[in-house]
Amino acid sequence: MTETRIITASEDDMKSAVSAAAELLAAGEIVALPAETVYGLGADAFNADAVAKVFAAKERPSFDPLIVHISRKGEMYDLAKVDDSIKDTVEKLASTFWPGPLTLVLPKKDVVPDIVTSGLPTVAIRQSAHPVFRAVCKELGRPIAAPSANRFGRISPTSASAVQKELDGRIPLIVDGGACCEGLESTIISIEPREGKKPLFWLLRAGPVTKEMLQPFGRVEKVKLKPGEQIQAPGQLASHYAPRTPMILLTKPSDFEPEEGKRYGLLSYRGEEDDGYLDLHDWEMVESLSPGNGKLAEAAIRLFFLMRLLDEAGLDAIVVEPVSETGLGVAIMDRLRRAAAK
Ligand code: AMP
Ligand code: MG
Repeated sequence: MTETRIITASEDDMKSAVSAAAELLAAGEIVALPAETVYGLGADAFNADAVAKVFAAKERPSFDPLIVHISRKGEMYDLAKVDDSIKDTVEKLASTFWPGPLTLVLPKKDVVPDIVTSGLPTVAIRQSAHPVFRAVCKELGRPIAAPSANRFGRISPTSASAVQKELDGRIPLIVDGGACCEGLESTIISIEPREGKKPLFWLLRAGPVTKEMLQPFGRVEKVKLKPGEQIQAPGQLASHYAPRTPMILLTKPSDFEPEEGKRYGLLSYRGEEDDGYLDLHDWEMVESLSPGNGKLAEAAIRLFFLMRLLDEAGLDAIVVEPVSETGLGVAIMDRLRRAAAK
């Protein structure tokens, strides 16, 4: 068992936290870092032994590759082979969305250890917009491989205390940079060139960069797996982001069939009676994703935090209202469906 230290990094004072994190990473250790998406569990991407510690701490299966975070756009070319047929598009995407929550899957160069990509010939790359994450990347001077800082398959952490609940005693350091401002994992795409047309973007995971935001640069297609086909992103696993308490995602209020004597909590979208869910049942607990005015951005930020809160309440099941499936709502519904899958 390792003792897990927590160091706070504020916007005005992050120097000591950043140095402590970079030092540990340089020594082959793993560190939890705040990102704008969710907290990540980082390792020096060029150190295969350090990356192996990430898989061990998370109990993550080896088939599930990590995202490599870079400190400046140009570093992408050290890690990936960018074919001329997609170079313009890659440059446009990177200058539009980086630093930020868009991950590009590109053919990898040999410097990237196979353990990082789970043996895949491609590597997933992005530049984080979080000042602490960026500063640690810069100070380390090497890219950081980091998946979300939770146990495999569980709810992603959007605060340092959530990371602590997931990984206490398994990692030496958590850098507390406050709550994550996006609250959902990055959008992941791969790019397929098309002769005389805008390229195809295969959406491997929906996220904060929405289909609408990507469309000016290419045609967005959702990856649909055929039975028995190998997954390319665990975002594609049917069950993921799952609380320990069973979750029931409703499509309409009349779908709810309570069982006698069971304790149910409601994860409401807007917390409004008119939506038809609040009065359905005598709920043990009600939390609403967007108590403001029904904004999806607010719902995204609060989603994993509230799923965790409801999960800790000792309910028999968490009943969930759907959110509108447009824009950011696509990524939220994607997480809810997987969290509710058996
Ligand atoms: P996490 O940070 O926990 O969301 O995990 C990283 C995500 O990136 C997972 O969904 C991975 O499958 C995905 N990913 C990483 N590398 C690749 C790759 N080469 N191809 C497709 N997806 C990838
Ligand atoms: Mg994850």
